[in-house]
Amino acid sequence: MDKILFKNILVYFSDLSSKRINFYLDSSGNVNFLDSFDISDYKEVLDGEDLVVMPLLTDVHTHMRVPGQEEKEDITSGSKAAARGGIGQIFTMPNTKPVVDNAYLVDYLVSNIDKNSSMKIYPVGAVSKNQAGEELSPLLEMKRSGAIAFSDDGRPITTNILRKALIYAKTFDGVIIDHPEDPVLSDGGLIHEGRLSRAYGIKSIPYTSEEVCVARDVALARETRSRLHLAHLSTRHSLKYIEIAKEEDLNVTSEVTVNHLIFNCENISIFDTKFKVNPPFREEEDMYELFNALKKGIIDIICTDHAPHTLEEKELDYSQAPFGTPGLETVFAALYTNFVMSNKCALEDIIKWMVVNPSKVFSIPVLELQNNSKANFFIFKKNEEFLVKPEMFFSKCKLSPFLDKKLFGFPLATFYNGKMIYKDNNFLQTVKEI
Ligand SMILES: [Zn+2]
Repeated sequence: MDKILFKNILVYFSDLSSKRINFYLDSSGNVNFLDSFDISDYKEVLDGEDLVVMPLLTDVHTHMRVPGQEEKEDITSGSKAAARGGIGQIFTMPNTKPVVDNAYLVDYLVSNIDKNSSMKIYPVGAVSKNQAGEELSPLLEMKRSGAIAFSDDGRPITTNILRKALIYAKTFDGVIIDHPEDPVLSDGGLIHEGRLSRAYGIKSIPYTSEEVCVARDVALARETRSRLHLAHLSTRHSLKYIEIAKEEDLNVTSEVTVNHLIFNCENISIFDTKFKVNPPFREEEDMYELFNALKKGIIDIICTDHAPHTLEEKELDYSQAPFGTPGLETVFAALYTNFVMSNKCALEDIIKWMVVNPSKVFSIPVLELQNNSKANFFIFKKNEEFLVKPEMFFSKCKLSPFLDKKLFGFPLATFYNGKMIYKDNNFLQTVKEI
């Protein structure tokens, strides 16, 4: 890589400060802050007028589909998609084929990631064997092989196993991630239970499906005092339990997907399979309350729940198509466009929810611009608008709930550990990505 000068660039840091600085990247991808410079020394100069440098985002909830479902996604395509979205660290969920429920499979995943990923990907191990909810998986062995946390995501952890897992994980400070849903109450439902499900007479998922599971989970976290993280909250009714948990200083944290902050069952085309997700999009009030809960610190993290499927599967009839939609590429642009540009929150808030809090909850490093260190950041241009088209996706699933919408804030380049792992075609003409 030739020397690139970043001139007068607005840089955001994980301590939530920001300042305009000059720096250059040398040929090894090291960052060097500059007090003064001579432009003629540099092959390429980026002038900071509208450019913003951000810490790399962490997505704590991604389905990389490895092992066994590489027709949907694999480590190469998934990590490229994440790089395109400004992400540098990802958690990949274990509901694969086979389920990642032992140290051997975590080892396999780690070596696949080492070979094929351009960034850090942390495997999440299954809490129960084959996610069947009957027998506890060897959590500590999986942790030793590199599992960052444990979850039966895709389904809730059965009560008895969750209690055992919390007690056991506490002995090594492990984190259990639950997917809060009562399958008896969901009962094969397809959309949120409300006006639309009644109007169309379609099987639906009530609020209580999530709420009773959240209540159970908080009770078990209280009893065990262990670390519990609740995945993809969708309803305002869940929030009061989390609020109580926080007030009682329990080790309970939670996340919401970017999509559940932007979509609700009334502002989407309800039978379009790109919007078929689990939990379903709820009502407008839920959407607002989930965002308010982030602002109040009740919810800690925004994730993508990137859940790619093949186009053939997603083109099936609504009742047959699988739940899940991709989100790695669009997460930052969607948040920037919908919340930062409309002053509903600041860029610093996004950093808190996608950089700082994931790092605190899961004890992982923050990756950001630092002097005399390998480059870790992404850069975007304020006020540059992109039309979201299938061609811009690296994920194998070229669908997105944002297709044909205009979004601002797409990364122009992403650097991980000194390497440029994503570059927009029109950006840095003379520099090649790795
Ligand atoms: Zn889930």
